[in-house]
Amino acid sequence: MAAGLAAALSAQGHSSEGLNRAVIFIGPPGAGKGTQAKEVARHYGVPHLSTGDMFREHVSRGTPLGRQAKPLMDSGALVPDSIVLGMVEERIARPDCARGFVLDGFPRTEPQAEGLAALLEKRGFRDPVVVHFVVDDGLLLRRLTGRRVCKVGGENYNIYDRPPKVPGRCDNDGGELLQRPDDREEVVAPRLQAYERQTFPLIAYYRAHGVLQDVDATGPVDDVARRVMEVLRKAR
Ligand code: ADP
Ligand code: ADP
Repeated sequence: MAAGLAAALSAQGHSSEGLNRAVIFIGPPGAGKGTQAKEVARHYGVPHLSTGDMFREHVSRGTPLGRQAKPLMDSGALVPDSIVLGMVEERIARPDCARGFVLDGFPRTEPQAEGLAALLEKRGFRDPVVVHFVVDDGLLLRRLTGRRVCKVGGENYNIYDRPPKVPGRCDNDGGELLQRPDDREEVVAPRLQAYERQTFPLIAYYRAHGVLQDVDATGPVDDVARRVMEVLRKAR
């Protein structure tokens, strides 16, 4: 964790309070959800559940689910709801999710949101807090095309805004930094379209349920982290 971010989070002093609910990070690809989710999850000591990371793990292990998801991911399309929901149901049933979790990249469609609501109710969770990452499209392109991810530990960088100390190498473990295949310019447009068409309607859905919190996701990582933590603190 960046020293400034660690200080910003610990200054808020919530780590002992526990989360005890589902937190949903919603926003377009590249908005910074994963970057913030990792830190919030670490701060509260709860799992960070990224459905994109889960699918990438299946793809790299060559599982049947991975083989099914790969062509869809490579073209910027969403994986079918039933597959995503089954994977999430299995994951949140594990004991480490009992005190809450941070969902990053899920739900992405209304059927997924409905499915999640049923899963949360079944497991006795109260309403989730939904954090909406607000950014403009110009910034998204810069964040997506500039994103590089460590092959070893998964740490993420941005060649424009958050470069590693040594080009192409992870600051933490020296691992090679790779570009995700779907972050190439030709796949970014269909991903943003999928967001607009299938995921954006969830903003109105969660707003109508009174659980949506808009967060300005522009500016440095530490500033966004402060805004996210403030929202979570107030939503308690
Ligand atoms: P980003 O963080 O850039 O928005 P993700 O890592 O969340 O991207 O997702 C990468 C890809 O994995 C998506 O383009 C999609 O194909 C698939 N995926 C991840 N989460 C979901 C989901 N909840 N529903 C359907 N497809 C998903
Ligand atoms: P998402 O999970 O929403 O797709 P990421 O967290 O992976 O987004 O961030 C996308 C890219 O933008 C990464 O290269 C990341 O390092 C960078 N990034 C994230 N937050 C910020 C920020 N506040 N300022 C500058 N760059 C950022």
